[in-house]
Amino acid sequence: MAILLKGTPVAEAIGQRTAFAVSKLAARGVTPTLAILRTGEGADAVAYENSAVRACEKYGVAARRVTLSGDVSKAEFIGRLSALNADGLVHGILVLQPLSPGLDFRTIRNLIPLRKDVDGITNASLGGVFAGSETAFAPCTAQAVAEILGFYKIPVSGKKIAVVGRSLVVGKPAAVLLTGKNATVTLCHSHTAGLAEITRAADIAVIATGRTESFGAEYFSPGQTVIDVGIGWSDKKQKLCGDVIFDEVEPIVNAITPVPGGLGSVTSSILANHTALAADAAQKRLLYLKQG
Ligand code: NAP
Repeated sequence: MAILLKGTPVAEAIGQRTAFAVSKLAARGVTPTLAILRTGEGADAVAYENSAVRACEKYGVAARRVTLSGDVSKAEFIGRLSALNADGLVHGILVLQPLSPGLDFRTIRNLIPLRKDVDGITNASLGGVFAGSETAFAPCTAQAVAEILGFYKIPVSGKKIAVVGRSLVVGKPAAVLLTGKNATVTLCHSHTAGLAEITRAADIAVIATGRTESFGAEYFSPGQTVIDVGIGWSDKKQKLCGDVIFDEVEPIVNAITPVPGGLGSVTSSILANHTALAADAAQKRLLYLKQG
């Protein structure tokens, strides 16, 4: 039986850090606030929004839902986003995907100012993560991978880690964060030759492909830790599952994240934490400017 790396205790530990930051801000009259911008009523976006709002409110971060219609014009969307950018009471902005047709996420994401980019999706934030800058927030899911390993005291330094998936929001930044913790990371993708050989040889395998229930026993070996980032609907099982075929893999490896119950709550808790940190930084900037 593998050790189950459940997300809830990790999310709660991060939540305690958030609550501490929130209480210090409250003493200065500041309520950290996250604005969540969504277009349309897509089920995945609504579910993610609800979990983000729950995670925020649990630890005293205010969440402001900004919901626009599924056919909102580019001008209206950009107008609303610009207003949030300029609003001193909003410290973090999360733009949910998918955006309505006509809105290009690759362009829109870069309209969020670095200091409010609490999900680390702008080029500026990603550049900061790659440069090891402390003023940039990492994408929450990528950071969640590192937080789970840290919470469960799974050694990373000097270990071989295979990260499968190279998206800008998960695989690539996770590889950078883990490299920063002195792991030797192999970043894999859909063109990687001999993928199963690489994942089997790793001490830790991080699977983030969005290919639900695609990674079975042949990809893993005894003693490994498996972080399953994927979350998708399994028609076969009629429930949400990860990218890893849990029933096949769990008996082989040493530790594994369950899906659901793994990374998701950690990701939302990090989002709330980033919002509190963004509010703290904004407050410090204001004080500095006032001092002349
Ligand atoms: P994405 O942008 O679609 O990227 C998928 C990556 O996986 C790509 O780099 C792709 O390679 C690679 N890939 C696809 N099939 C592969 C295969 N058979 N072998 C090796 N690599 C393969 O997805 P994403 O946004 O990173 O999300 C990945 C998963 O994480 C999804 O299931 C998503 O729902 C989940 N997710 C979870 C959370 C959470 O909080 N739990 C948050 C965000 C995302 P190429 O680059 O070569 O195409």
